[in-house]
Amino acid sequence: MLQHSRIWFKASTGNWEIGSVQSILQDGSLICSSNDDEVLELAVKDIHPANPDILEGVDDLTKLSYLNEPSVLHDLKTRFEKDNIYTNAGPVLIALNPFKKIPLYSAERVQMYRDKVSKNFDPHVFAITDSACTALFRDGINQSVVISGESGAGKTETAKIAMQYIATFGGGRGVEDEILESNPLLEAFGNAKTLRNDNSSRFGKLIDIYFDDSGTISGAKIQTYLLEKSRVVYQSYGERSYHVFYQLCAGADRALRQKINLKLASDYQYLSRNGCLTIDAVDDAAQFRAMLNAMDRVRIPKNDQQRLFEMLAAVLWLGNISFHTAESENYSTMAVDEAARSVASLLGCQIDVLHTALCTRKINARGEVIIQQLTEAQAIDSRDALAKAIYSCLFEWLVEKINNSLDAGKACESKFISILDIYGFESFENNSFEQLCINYANERLQQFFNHHLFKIEQDEYSSEGIDWTKIEFVDNQECLDLIEKKPVGLITLLDEECSFPKATEASLALKLSEHLKGNSCFKAERSPGFTINHYAGEVTYGTSGFLEKNRDLLHVDLLELLGSCEHDLAKEFAAKLGGTGRLNGVDLQRRSVSTKFKNQLLNLMERLETTSPHFIRCVKPNNRQLRNVFDFDLVLQQLHCCGVLEVVRIARSGYPTRYSYEHFAQRYGFLLGQTKSRHNDYRNDSLLVLQKNSILPGAFQAGLSKLFFRPGQIGILEHLRTGT
Ligand code: ATP
Ligand code: MG
Repeated sequence: MLQHSRIWFKASTGNWEIGSVQSILQDGSLICSSNDDEVLELAVKDIHPANPDILEGVDDLTKLSYLNEPSVLHDLKTRFEKDNIYTNAGPVLIALNPFKKIPLYSAERVQMYRDKVSKNFDPHVFAITDSACTALFRDGINQSVVISGESGAGKTETAKIAMQYIATFGGGRGVEDEILESNPLLEAFGNAKTLRNDNSSRFGKLIDIYFDDSGTISGAKIQTYLLEKSRVVYQSYGERSYHVFYQLCAGADRALRQKINLKLASDYQYLSRNGCLTIDAVDDAAQFRAMLNAMDRVRIPKNDQQRLFEMLAAVLWLGNISFHTAESENYSTMAVDEAARSVASLLGCQIDVLHTALCTRKINARGEVIIQQLTEAQAIDSRDALAKAIYSCLFEWLVEKINNSLDAGKACESKFISILDIYGFESFENNSFEQLCINYANERLQQFFNHHLFKIEQDEYSSEGIDWTKIEFVDNQECLDLIEKKPVGLITLLDEECSFPKATEASLALKLSEHLKGNSCFKAERSPGFTINHYAGEVTYGTSGFLEKNRDLLHVDLLELLGSCEHDLAKEFAAKLGGTGRLNGVDLQRRSVSTKFKNQLLNLMERLETTSPHFIRCVKPNNRQLRNVFDFDLVLQQLHCCGVLEVVRIARSGYPTRYSYEHFAQRYGFLLGQTKSRHNDYRNDSLLVLQKNSILPGAFQAGLSKLFFRPGQIGILEHLRTGT
């Protein structure tokens, strides 16, 4: 640390502030002055070197001489304040959510990035998507854009911006419009207002966009992952169910309302129980019209639309069905009222058949079928299970319809770009099975991210002929093993426990603790549950509800009910849920949710592995969905969680700063004075500058076309250049 060096120190407010070193004491501590001329004595461990002014607000964090946390945050904040929400972190694009409209996405701008009118465009989703499009045709390798970040960080918006770019890049046949129209449709059915995001995606999504050899989009295919179906029957306070329900209630015309006996959202238990019916600045009726329009655009026929609304209404009315237990009895009966009549008429079944399905259960005991009568709580559970099953089938049915219209089948063999928008890492006060699945998905993605970024780094070093030692990185394999290893991983143990009818949340917790305590990422908890040390931090999960959610069995009585209905979607769903019997000796209905999800994720990873990936990390600047507010700690925590600081650290332990010989010689050649070469031998001049200014050989490497610097070296040269 030199005298007069600029430094970051933590002020009494807890914020990082800029100061400069006045003198260095014998014990190594520093006397520094703050910008307000306050004099402080600081230990070396409490300060970080600050970057020279010329590096203020650079568009790529690898250009920073010092890559410490305050420097990185300062850079992002400086840019954010000027509405430069995008910053590169080497190969990764960091996207800060502005929570306001900024004029960055016009058709003209798309064209500018497409025409590459300048080499020095600001970092942008368009730029990274353009490099994917360009590489697809240049290298003939399929590409992917992998978007991650916490809930509300802007993944879905970013995915749409990337799709907008691709649609312009490869548009021509019209299918690109259908691809874009699939967004409002899927958002209506798969997004909901949560406490963190008014438009939170409750499913993961991968869209492959196919191109023919002329570079025109020929089709697309959407794959979805694990919809949070519990939301259909229950939401936390201040949250909503899926948008489509409120849109339907607000926007349906008279004829449709009559046909499906539709009331207002406030009349339905599933929607009104926790008092959150609307979203600020969102007009559900207008959204409904947009959704209808989108259905027409993706060519969902009117009669299918009608059938879909009937099913939605049936789900809503199911929530209003009530049960009574007569005194001195311990079993329930269904109230035969408007709700029950509506469900029966919408699904096309007799009221008493509905009653039997919801209030009784056939049990096979030693070869004899016994009819068990359900308690009120059990009947409510079976009603809710039916509603959830119908809705999740409806969602899958819709995705299938969209895929048919996007010509997915025909296009599969051609070149493609995939865009992945999956739910971000979650950690709440109470975490359950859904969070485990979401966080497991993120562990997998994190590993994919790590492997690729190291590979890119290593490839550049070797193509430049740089001699370097392999960099160690934080590997999350142990955590993945904990979850998915056979025979003693969490998923296997959970599945095993699910096959015992008498298992409880406590017996599950005990089993996990017995088998997994040797894994350093696992900790048992006293209340039934466990803690996992994820790459992004510790999360404690309660095992309550794990078994049912993982089994996810729709009781055979409910399956039979659906199968006996006149409504053809009900029949179709029953066939699907029933698993069409057995396949290769495996009972399809019995495959657990977590095992299915694991297989889906493994397929996803295999698929991504065949592509050349581009990473976008979305970051939310504050937790309140506010514009112009940049919360240092929150941003830092996300950079830590999503591994961007890791990438930065990887870059730090390598040679993060890179200059072409030409650029370097032009900037620092003057330091050579007379000895500067006459014929602009940039390489020679550059190496001389380094030699004459005592930049130690270990601090840089001379590649074939570039100089590679260890952190801090450019700061020293700038110091010589400007004398500050
Ligand atoms: P989740 O994981 O909950 O689905 P997400 O990361 O997909 O969250 P988005 O729904 O994309 O988050 O973004 C949340 C909100 O932030 C958007 O509804 C929009 O209001 C705002 N937003 C995000 N990105 C942008 C942007 N580039 N420009 C303007 N507003 C944005
Ligand atoms: Mg989203």
